[in-house]
Amino acid sequence: MSSVFSQIIERKLPAKVVLENEHVIAIEDIHPVAPVHILIIPKKEISSIQYLKREDMHLMGHIVEAAQKIADKLELTDYRLVTNNGPDAGQTVFHLHFHMIGGKKLQHLV
Ligand code: 5GP
Repeated sequence: MSSVFSQIIERKLPAKVVLENEHVIAIEDIHPVAPVHILIIPKKEISSIQYLKREDMHLMGHIVEAAQKIADKLELTDYRLVTNNGPDAGQTVFHLHFHMIGGKKLQHLV
């Protein structure tokens, strides 16, 4: 069973797409926790950052580049880019993704 994000990438499920290229897709989170809450997702199905293999490390660069482009587009100077690894860290979708959160003053983590 492919992840909900793979289904979005394959256009089997709808999503508000903010940016897309060969390597990543960025979508608006369905349950935003801030005025800006975007998920940056590598298209390759990797369950979490702990399972990112050496040959896929370049995807981290594409994720950062996507975040920078989105920030420029939204004129967002302050934001958080975070990934949850494992259920106790808050991971609920087991397809690697980064939350890009901003648009308000954020609380400290934990
Ligand atoms: P996690 O808890 O795994 O770090 O983050 C998963 C995120 O995916 C959550 O913030 C949740 O709101 C979001 N999400 C779950 N299902 C969907 C969906 O079908 N569409 C969109 N756009 N976001 C989703």
